[in-house]
Amino acid sequence: MATKQNHSHHEHSGSDLVAAARDALVAAGEQWTGMRESVFEELACHERPASAYDIADNLSAARGKRVAPNSVYRILDLFVANNLAMRVESANAYLANTHPGCEHDCIFLVCDECGEATHVDDDTVSGGVRSVAKASRFQTRRPIIEVRGLCETCAG
Ligand SMILES: [Zn+2]
Ligand SMILES: [Zn+2]
Ligand SMILES: [Zn+2]
Repeated sequence: MATKQNHSHHEHSGSDLVAAARDALVAAGEQWTGMRESVFEELACHERPASAYDIADNLSAARGKRVAPNSVYRILDLFVANNLAMRVESANAYLANTHPGCEHDCIFLVCDECGEATHVDDDTVSGGVRSVAKASRFQTRRPIIEVRGLCETCAG
């Protein structure tokens, strides 16, 4: 995975990622409930962007009782607002943020064939987009930079 930031930046995975996400949410003054943990764990085991419906379905099966997509959606929103998850707009789905303690305008390379979304951080590129918006007197909240195409496997 390509990263290009101007600082040392740690990407988490597995139980280390869940712990980092919990710490980031608690530090933001929010509670780490059992349901939030389940949603995060479920999200983190998806390699491809997952929708609220995918997550609700899997959680319903795992828990043996129906989990409403709406409640999953609210939790995902909270995760995005607190940098624990990232929304891949062109896929209308979510990915766990592998760097919950560190904010970047993440860039996604989304494969049209298999749906894989490779995550890259390049503050030079996203900073350029922010500057362009600023020059037009536009107040940027979040640049969305997504590249559609074919991943290495599908292109091969
Ligand atoms: Zn970073
Ligand atoms: Zn990132
Ligand atoms: Zn692919």
